[in-house]
Amino acid sequence: MSASQPSGNKSFDQGSLSGELDEPATSAVAYEVDLPRIERAVREILFAVGEDPDREGLRETPARVARMYRELFSGLHTDPRIHLQKFFTEKYDEMVLVKDISFNSMCEHHMLPFIGKAHIGYVPNGKVVGLSKLARVVEEISHRPQVQERMTEQIANLLVEELGVKGVAVVIEAAHSCMSIRGVRKPDSVCVTSAMKGLFRSNLSSRSEVMNLIYGGR
Ligand SMILES: [Zn+2]
Repeated sequence: MSASQPSGNKSFDQGSLSGELDEPATSAVAYEVDLPRIERAVREILFAVGEDPDREGLRETPARVARMYRELFSGLHTDPRIHLQKFFTEKYDEMVLVKDISFNSMCEHHMLPFIGKAHIGYVPNGKVVGLSKLARVVEEISHRPQVQERMTEQIANLLVEELGVKGVAVVIEAAHSCMSIRGVRKPDSVCVTSAMKGLFRSNLSSRSEVMNLIYGGR
């Protein structure tokens, strides 16, 4: 299979429609990660830094790293919006807040993990989703080469587009290993991003309410 990059459109090779589509709780589009290609690349990196990829301890490493990347980037060929299309109709029009959804993602600038928590608050407009669906959305959006700012926006936009929410607030806090183990080496720094849409953007008291609920009791 070709390893063409899915540059935003859906034109990547979908040649192998495997049984993965039967998996109930995933929105995976069948896409086969080119493991041998990753393995070759990892071998090259090992050579390049002056290692011997054929010594005993490293022999299995390229294959292991290839499988790891397949897992860490498993959200790249999924469409998280399908999780929001299974909503139910409710008159409830107060805020729903799901706090502390833990995630791990890969910083696309350094290919190093950033790890943290997402908080999603929304005010429904007739459509409510199961709480686990929000966690699934975070899971799939984080399992791609990412930047935290974009991830925050993407989650908020999905709730606007799929649920037509009256307002949505997404706050993400994460520690970036590219900040802690290299460069400026600030191990304790936490990056916080937020995306406010609808009434959380226009209405200051709604915004303070959601921020208090997220940070209250800390
Ligand atoms: Zn980085």
